[in-house]
Amino acid sequence: MTTAVKRIFNFSAGPAVLPLPVLEEVQRDLLALPGVGMSILEISHRSKPFDAIHARCIDDLRALLRIPTNYRILFLQGGASLQFSMIPMNFMKPAGKADYIVTGVWSKKAVKEAKRVGTVQIAATTEADRFSRIPVQSELVLDPGADYVHFTSNNTIYGTEWAVEPQVGNVPLICDASSDIMSRPLDISKYAAIYAGAQKNIGPSGVTLVILREDLLDRCDPALATMLNYKTHADASSLYNTPSVFGIYMIGLVAKYLRENGGIEAMQQLNERKARLLYDAIDQSTFYRGTAQKDSRSLMNVTFRLPDEALEKRFVTEATAAGFDGLKGHRDVGGLRASIYNAFPIEGVEALLTFMRDFEHRA
Ligand SMILES: *Cc1c(COP(=O)(O)O)cnc(C)c1O
Repeated sequence: MTTAVKRIFNFSAGPAVLPLPVLEEVQRDLLALPGVGMSILEISHRSKPFDAIHARCIDDLRALLRIPTNYRILFLQGGASLQFSMIPMNFMKPAGKADYIVTGVWSKKAVKEAKRVGTVQIAATTEADRFSRIPVQSELVLDPGADYVHFTSNNTIYGTEWAVEPQVGNVPLICDASSDIMSRPLDISKYAAIYAGAQKNIGPSGVTLVILREDLLDRCDPALATMLNYKTHADASSLYNTPSVFGIYMIGLVAKYLRENGGIEAMQQLNERKARLLYDAIDQSTFYRGTAQKDSRSLMNVTFRLPDEALEKRFVTEATAAGFDGLKGHRDVGGLRASIYNAFPIEGVEALLTFMRDFEHRA
């Protein structure tokens, strides 16, 4: 199927690019789901067609990420940001304490919410290095008595990513994987919970994927507000109230697309190729300069600077005019950020490299 519209290269950090074949399928089926005669936007979340979509989405996610059977797969609302509150409300014991590893703005926001609930112990922070790196294992000050350890696997704003998860012994490990979930294989059994707002790598905004080890549900205090209790959502299979029907449908389409295209291993290889092209170009240049330390670099968000801010401004303007959208860096880091999630095509990276070489010559 060919699209009549011209699509530009979308480097947005999120909501972000989605696979074109998925968008085409959505477009084709938007007026009527095959065999249903109504659109996904119009059907009940308690209908048979939606049940099938929901179940298939869970099956595909379970297969793709090799999620063990003792983990629940939930689709919640309120974004990753609501998880910053729900995690401590549910999993910090009364007068509890938890370890937080702080690697950027999102980790800090998670800390802020956890402090309202109990004692937050900062196991490590790289703020003194302006979050340009991930801490090494020996820097972590971990409390074996903590209720859990929380970390952010990919720091969307700073372009840093954990190469391997922190070793935390028997303490439950909880991860905000909003900007790199499904970009590389994970050993889910190392985690007690993983959550991700869908809009970076796996779907539209409005739905948050939560993968939760079942035994954690025993910790959820029945006195919590119903909607803030994971047990409510686990017991009702994410259908206590009306979920993001469209969001779940979209995650399902993305998961099906990934399964048909080599799964997460294939994504990882492609993501490594795309990132390597950009980092090699940055490293070989004296004009462009990466902001993340080399051993902490993200495969998803490539952050870099130019010799001065005026050039960076000009770069963004000219790149936008040339059909590269979303390259302006986050205000905390400045400079440029190329977000190259799963669905971002390698042709777009190659086109950006050509643009970067050309811009350097003109500058
Ligand atoms: C974008 C992002 C968030 C915030 O997600 P919302 O769904 O907007 O609440 C949290 N953590 C990380 C790592 C992110 O990239």
